[in-house]
Amino acid sequence: MKKLEIKFKSLNKFLPLMPYSSKFDNEIILLIGGKKQLVKKEPIHVRKVGRLKKIYERLGFYVETSGLYFTREHWNDRNRYGEDGDHTELFIGTSKEIVREGIILNKIEKRARDKEERKTAARLLGKLYGYPDCCIKHFIKLDSHNDIFAEIIHTLKNTKGNLNFYLNKYSGYKIISHIPCSFNCEKSIEIAGFVFDNLRKDLTEEAVRVIFRFSSMHILFIPPFEKISFSGDVKGDTLSFSFFKSTFLKSHIVSLLNITNMIKFTKNKIILLNNSQLVDELAPSQWVFLNWGGKTKKLFLKY
Ligand SMILES: [Zn+2]
Repeated sequence: MKKLEIKFKSLNKFLPLMPYSSKFDNEIILLIGGKKQLVKKEPIHVRKVGRLKKIYERLGFYVETSGLYFTREHWNDRNRYGEDGDHTELFIGTSKEIVREGIILNKIEKRARDKEERKTAARLLGKLYGYPDCCIKHFIKLDSHNDIFAEIIHTLKNTKGNLNFYLNKYSGYKIISHIPCSFNCEKSIEIAGFVFDNLRKDLTEEAVRVIFRFSSMHILFIPPFEKISFSGDVKGDTLSFSFFKSTFLKSHIVSLLNITNMIKFTKNKIILLNNSQLVDELAPSQWVFLNWGGKTKKLFLKY
């Protein structure tokens, strides 16, 4: 483990932790720790490529871009990511061969017409990325990629018992980057534990507390876009919260949540309360509430 610690020190120098963003990189920790052979970063602005390449090469990895980053989602979202052509995919691997193999498999997985061919590529890529076999199998069965709601439901349907907060990849800081086969998948928890232990060794107590707090936040997801994280306690069918954050700061729900401190989930409604006073009722056609650590997930589901 000595070598790993030395590498972490240099990593820290180049990638200082920003606790309120996701800049401290779980995937690079796993790559350094030998738990992955390959990492893909996307979308990376072409102007950043040179600097990142230097950092990762200094850590002893091979780095290559795979041409322009484009997917339909990216094109639709180009205001956020910039005009097409500004971004690229960056592959970071333990060797040139691994990176080249990854780039080819990635192209097949994205573009092959044949479903079986795509699945095979996804399986092999999953191995290079160090994902657990159970999660690779699960991912291949998921039809609609790039759809967070479908992804959450797919994993939730396979989850028996409590949701483990280590596997909360939706509230700001991801400890794991892959889609777990269940929200208490043992292999995924093991991977998350490795990342967390290494973060703990290297970061200040405050930074670890921030990551811990992010991971424990409950998530209300209303497709297609609304994703709200809450710090609070769930008792029965009611969430009491002291803090929330949303990806859409100006949405209708957010303005209501500003005057809410309690949410009651019933079969058909989400009831917003301020000290037992009714604020409003919502009845979206689809929603899901992820109660990390809780047993009561079935109460909160409507899909
Ligand atoms: Zn799994």
